[in-house]
Amino acid sequence: MRVATDSAGPGLSPVWLLMYHSVSYTTPDPYRITVTPDRLHRQLAWLRRNRLRGVSVGELLRARAAGRAGRMVGLTFDDGYRDFLDTAVPLLRGHGCTATVFVLPGRLHGSNVWDTDGPRKRLLNADGIRAAAEAGMEIGSHGLLHRSLPGLDAAELEREVAHSRDLLAEITGEPPQGFCYPYGAVDRRTADAVRDAGYAYACAIDPGRLTGQYALPRVHVGERDIAPMMRLKRLLHPWRRRPLPPLPAPARPVRADRSGRSDRSGRQNEAPAS
Ligand SMILES: [Zn+2]
Repeated sequence: MRVATDSAGPGLSPVWLLMYHSVSYTTPDPYRITVTPDRLHRQLAWLRRNRLRGVSVGELLRARAAGRAGRMVGLTFDDGYRDFLDTAVPLLRGHGCTATVFVLPGRLHGSNVWDTDGPRKRLLNADGIRAAAEAGMEIGSHGLLHRSLPGLDAAELEREVAHSRDLLAEITGEPPQGFCYPYGAVDRRTADAVRDAGYAYACAIDPGRLTGQYALPRVHVGERDIAPMMRLKRLLHPWRRRPLPPLPAPARPVRADRSGRSDRSGRQNEAPAS
C-alpha cells in the first residue's frame, strides 16, 4: 500500500488547492462557476492517474504538518450549492476523495442572488449541510451572505466572520475550522478578524503578500480544464503563487472520531475518541 510521503520535509510541501463552485449541467454560465459532472469525474480521474488524492483543506493541512501531504491536493467548493451534495459528493466518494465546502449559513433557503446575471442555483439548507458533513466532507464558512469583507464596519465584519461560525456550529455540532473569503477579497484587517474568530485557516485566491495560514492561495478549475490544462496548472502553481511556511494543523473533526473514521491520508488506524 502506498503511503504518501512529503519529499519537501515536514510542513513544507507545496499546497495545491483547487477551487470549484457548482457542479451541474446548467447553462449559461456567465461567471464560469460551473463544471459538468462529467468534467469533474474526468478531473478526479486525472488526479488518480497521477497518484494524487483530493482531500479537504483541513485534512491536507493536518497531513502537511505531519510531513505526509506530498501527493495530496485540496478540493474546495465555494458557495455551498445544493448540487454539491446531490452531484459532487457521490463523484468525490466514488474517487475516494474528500473536499471542503464553504457554505453560507445566512442564506440557508436561498440562492446565488449576488450573481446578478444568474442563473439561479439553490444553496444548501441546514439538513443539506449536515448531510454533507455526514458524508465525510469538511464544512467551512463562506461568511453569512456572500459579501465582500474588506470595507465592512466592525459589527458587520463580526457578523459575517464570527456569527457565521456560531451558526455552523449549531448546525453541525462543531465550529468550522476553515473560512473562505467571498470573491477572494481579503486584507490584513479581514484576515485578523478570521484568526480572532477562532478559525484555523482561511482560503483566498491570489492573496499576494498576505499569503499564509489566513490567506491560502487557490487556483480556479473549470469546465475547460481538460487533462493538459490540469497538468499545466499544477506545474505553474509554485511559480504563480507564493510558497507557504509550515502551518499548524487544524483540529480533527469530532464527527470523524465519533464514527471511528480517521483521515485516510496516512492510512493510520487511530482509536476513536471515547
Ligand atoms: Zn463565493
